[in-house]
Amino acid sequence: MLVSAKEMLQKAKAGHYAVGQFNINNLEWTKAILQTAQELNSPVILGVSEGAGKYMTGYKTVVGMVNGMMEELNITVPVALHLDHGSYEGCMKCIEAGFSSVMFDGSHYPIDENVAKTTELVKITAEKGMSLEAEVGSIGGEEDGVVGKGECADPQECKSIADLGVTMLAAGIGNIHGKYPENWEGLSFETLDAIQQLTGEMPLVLHGGTGIPEDMIKKAISLGVAKINVNTECQLAFADATRKYVEAGKDLEGKGFDPRKLLAPGAEAIKATVKEKMELFGSVGKA
Ligand SMILES: [Zn+2]
Repeated sequence: MLVSAKEMLQKAKAGHYAVGQFNINNLEWTKAILQTAQELNSPVILGVSEGAGKYMTGYKTVVGMVNGMMEELNITVPVALHLDHGSYEGCMKCIEAGFSSVMFDGSHYPIDENVAKTTELVKITAEKGMSLEAEVGSIGGEEDGVVGKGECADPQECKSIADLGVTMLAAGIGNIHGKYPENWEGLSFETLDAIQQLTGEMPLVLHGGTGIPEDMIKKAISLGVAKINVNTECQLAFADATRKYVEAGKDLEGKGFDPRKLLAPGAEAIKATVKEKMELFGSVGKA
């Protein structure tokens, strides 16, 4: 059964480790992540962007696939199914469809409007026993044309959103989605520390986990980050393994064209990436 991310993240924050959010795109992704979490006895958050939800034909399909897979694979570790960077409408659809967690990305609204919409969602998700992630200070990325230093959130604004009763808070601390540019200045630990001082027990979320050096990840965890989002890294690993398989001509040998064979190296590569991240974040054995 899917669970809210609340308990696993509060435990993570208190225990000084982080739970990984791994975004899913299809059956192979979901299966690889769930199996790895179970093997390593780690809690896990499956992230679904609005685009990926659409790609998988809709949120109901996603809920059906994840619930069915958890039952058939005997997954007993805590699993949250979470909407990543949701609009207000997207959050409502996922709540309806049976997700156990949503992120409302109101960072592009003026702070007053972000507060108003987040307040409404706090009420609705609390009634359903779901977790809610809010974002303050937008997190840049190549797709937004942002290069160099990512934005830093205002710690006071973080406190005002945290005080609304959200479960976890994403704040820009110089992090970026996608691959980091050469001239990236690194995470702003000053900002992170200031946010933690003001928000106390609130589990903090680090987006754009791909390509942040290990020592920075560990320092971020020590300063209150309890959830780290990983997306691009699994995509790169999957593409690389699949390309190697095809380039080696293996799809032309015997039944190598069978999708169960063709997609297997990519799925293994996702598993290896998830394992590496769970070990780095410290969530192994914490289910
Ligand atoms: Zn993000």
